[in-house]
Amino acid sequence: MKRRNHFRVSEHFDLDDFEDPTTATVMLCDDLPTYLEAVQERFGHNIRISSGYRTPAHNSTIGGAPTSYHLVGGAADLVPVTGRMDDLAAAANMIHDLYVINEGDHVHVHLRRLMPPS
Ligand SMILES: [Zn+2]
Repeated sequence: MKRRNHFRVSEHFDLDDFEDPTTATVMLCDDLPTYLEAVQERFGHNIRISSGYRTPAHNSTIGGAPTSYHLVGGAADLVPVTGRMDDLAAAANMIHDLYVINEGDHVHVHLRRLMPPS
């Protein structure tokens, strides 16, 4: 099958890294890859995106929150290719524009600017 979304969106990431695995569709906030590059640079190891955009159906299947930022292409779940999860979370936390949750088996990040004012 032709990989429709196989092109670079930043130095280390391709659009298809963010696509929904069940449909190969994707939405991506255009500044998210830049922030992920900053995380990877601070972390000092390569990171892999285990989940980016999710369709509502896929999000529901895997038990994602109904208001998840994965639904709008503003979130990514990150796993270290090498290095430690805690260090990856610490590196992500240094990027102020990202809201970060260390979920143990991945680090969830989303764009703070998408969040409603508190
Ligand atoms: Zn997530």
